[in-house]
Amino acid sequence: MDDRGIPQDHAEGGDFASLGLSAPLLKALRSLGFERPTPIQAAVIPHALAGRDVIGLAQTGSGKTAAFGLPLAERHQHGRGVRGLILSPTREIAIQTKDFLDILGRDHHLETALLIGGVRIGPQFDALRGEPDLIVATPGRLLDHVERKTAKLQGICDLVLDEADHMLDLGFLPQIRRVLQALPEKRRTMMFSATLPPPIEGLVARFMRDPVRIDLLPAGRAAEGIDHRLYLVEEKDKKQCLISLLAGDEGSTLVFLRRKIDAEWACRQLEIEGHPVERIHSDRSQSQRTAALDGFREGEHRVLVATDVAARGIDIPRIEHIINFNPPQTVEDYIHRAGRTARGKLLGRVSTIATWRDRAMIAQIEAALGKKLERHEAPGVAAYEEVSPSRRGRIRRRLL
Ligand code: AMP
Repeated sequence: MDDRGIPQDHAEGGDFASLGLSAPLLKALRSLGFERPTPIQAAVIPHALAGRDVIGLAQTGSGKTAAFGLPLAERHQHGRGVRGLILSPTREIAIQTKDFLDILGRDHHLETALLIGGVRIGPQFDALRGEPDLIVATPGRLLDHVERKTAKLQGICDLVLDEADHMLDLGFLPQIRRVLQALPEKRRTMMFSATLPPPIEGLVARFMRDPVRIDLLPAGRAAEGIDHRLYLVEEKDKKQCLISLLAGDEGSTLVFLRRKIDAEWACRQLEIEGHPVERIHSDRSQSQRTAALDGFREGEHRVLVATDVAARGIDIPRIEHIINFNPPQTVEDYIHRAGRTARGKLLGRVSTIATWRDRAMIAQIEAALGKKLERHEAPGVAAYEEVSPSRRGRIRRRLL
């Protein structure tokens, strides 16, 4: 094994048969057109088949779905109750995982139930009554089923936490802890993540047994997926700061404002500046919101202005930049807003525009992140000068 946890035979590829997979799965892989394992598959599958707990440090797109899906399909047979659980951060990832498991399960009739939020729960009751062998779920909806006693977790012996850092960004840590506590202690756990921030290390220490750590992240990667920046300005310069940030930006950008009236205002201002922009807030009809989201997703307008409430649950890949026109009112909202970026790639940026009045919230956000927000200046906008706490009494308006 090399120092990344990869068995030498498979560090450069090998083939699927030599990983120990059986004929029906090799057939399914051929039907998918997968000829050779990707590095994460080559590294993870032998350990997973041997029953080890695995931490896979890998990016989205590395082939990790098959890295955990193949060992699960290999290990389980139909009709023995729910034995495997995969927790996914978003509905879209959960749907992709379920589709992949359905293909793998075709030949030995492995059934997978999909439990995701944002859709009717009734069909999920039917799926659970249909004797699934595996469950793919987002954490909130899974707990909903556990509380209703429609999903039973006591037979689960294989758990996969997919994109654990992303689940953390989305504020799912409390739900994940609850799920982990409801599972039998004797089980195998595989966790995939692009970063290992302290709360995730905590989960590893508490809930995994002597895991093999496989690191396939590119060398020199960012320590964190999200670059958190703070722009301290005078109240009167906030609008100019927003315009300046957008002018220096080409990727898709989501701008958060607290109130719908502010969202309308910002949208008009940005239109005047010539930005392709749309907005979502609670005074917009469902069809207007859907059109705004679709247009943003497809790149018709690269800027979307949103309030927290309207943005809850939106799931759009490739948002590169989040701009908080004001800091949110709670740390949870900050984390939720930040979780809209750095998806499917390692890096995303969150820029928060704030005035000295926001100092308490900034301090709370910094405490939650465990680090200072990096101070930046927007081109053409005078930065607000911070002073140390000892001088605060003397210079009242230079507070942060
Ligand atoms: P994932 O990271 O699991 O989302 O996979 C990323 C993409 O790579 C998906 O479109 C998979 O279908 C594809 N893929 C995964 N493993 C292989 C493989 N061994 N050979 C070819 N394509 C693959």
